Amino acid sequence: MCGVVGVYCENEDLTSTLTYYSLYSLQHRGQESSGIAMYSDGIKIHKGMGLVTEVLRDVVPKMKGKVAIGHVRYSTTGESKLENAQPILVRSKVGEIAICHNGNLVNYYQLREVLENEGRVFATTSDTEIIAQLLSNFLMKYDIYESLQILTGKLLGSYTITVLINDTLIAYRDPLGFRPLCIGEIDSGYVIASESCALDSLEIERVFDVKPGEAVIVEDGDVEFFRVAKAKRCARCVFEYIYFARPDSTIDGVSVYRARFNMGKNLARESSINCDIVSPIPDSGTTCAIGYAMESKIPYSEVLIKNRYVGRTFIMPEQKLREISVRLKMNVVRENVEGKRITLVDDSIVRGTTSRKIVEMVGRFAKEVHLRVGSPPIVSPCYFGIDMSTREELIASDKSVEEIRRILSVNSLAYLSLKGLIKAVGIKDLCLACLTGIYPVCVPGEICDNYKYDVRY
Ligand code: SF4
Repeated sequence: MCGVVGVYCENEDLTSTLTYYSLYSLQHRGQESSGIAMYSDGIKIHKGMGLVTEVLRDVVPKMKGKVAIGHVRYSTTGESKLENAQPILVRSKVGEIAICHNGNLVNYYQLREVLENEGRVFATTSDTEIIAQLLSNFLMKYDIYESLQILTGKLLGSYTITVLINDTLIAYRDPLGFRPLCIGEIDSGYVIASESCALDSLEIERVFDVKPGEAVIVEDGDVEFFRVAKAKRCARCVFEYIYFARPDSTIDGVSVYRARFNMGKNLARESSINCDIVSPIPDSGTTCAIGYAMESKIPYSEVLIKNRYVGRTFIMPEQKLREISVRLKMNVVRENVEGKRITLVDDSIVRGTTSRKIVEMVGRFAKEVHLRVGSPPIVSPCYFGIDMSTREELIASDKSVEEIRRILSVNSLAYLSLKGLIKAVGIKDLCLACLTGIYPVCVPGEICDNYKYDVRY
């Protein structure tokens, strides 16, 4: 749950601004820390805890150079503190390597132990530093192409990265393609970002997805696409479509908005119930609710209004903070609720904490509250970078739909089927592990379907 950016721009005055605005558009992917690394006679990094505007606004106008990478962070491996903020810098015989990472390595501890036994010292507890250390090792013996291939053979898990090796910009998406990455061409260079919404905000028209297993190398203004590895099946995170990505982004040719709208339509086809109004749990349930209302022909109305200046509850790292922020961020439009039978639509239920509080708020005035969820129950943890790391925290991991209904105190509860979800997204190469318990990468103690990929040495 992070956002990454990489920029090459001939106009040295523009690079940092392009990076800054791209990061600003990706703020929904992480709100704990922000940072930029820029090459100008050596790599200079500015990073800190906080939002893009808080950390970077004052320094960006002073940063000059042709090439930069940037990051917004939500921590999954490694604590939420400044030393783990990115970009992370590693110095070696090949020069300086700065790296930004979106994803999570499953074999982090094994890799770290091997490197520590070789005498490597780590400045952070983040898995991102492992990638940088390994890359710097390989670059001492091999060229960048071989180094990326050997690196891919070592890493298990999800990793979309942007890297500066001195003044060379590299962006790479892991072979299973868990996290999104796209590139856009500008007059004087290239902008690479986790989501297309970042490139749209810069009015970049020619935008392409970076394919799973593909690296983009920008050196002295020349761009090269290099297929590092090819998987027989990919594992694009379905949660990007359900919840995480912005609805105005397109990922691997699929509009996130369209996918969410279809989730709502399929949900209504599967479990629509007679009601007075359909209403979303904002913001992430909104598009799904519109699809649901259209399909069920039940009037759409807002019953919850969000305070837009409070961060997303789901991505507040501490449970206590999450609970407080629900109350801060939502309020009920009483006149739309009183005496009505309401179907509330949400995109997903993770812990159930937010849903329970919201249902309680609406239920105080409504005649009936029915809850419809635009994804199947989340039954297993995510090891690939979405913050659902233990079974215990997932309400559906050991409870039936009826048990959850009772805990949430709703008149009825229904989830979208797995089939309905896959149809809504419209592509098959998806990671569904948190919904099925079958993982595309070997995870100790879990059932694995081990999606293979060829690394071309
Ligand atoms: S386990 Fe779930 S959240 Fe994690 S990558 Fe797979 S689909 Fe996404």
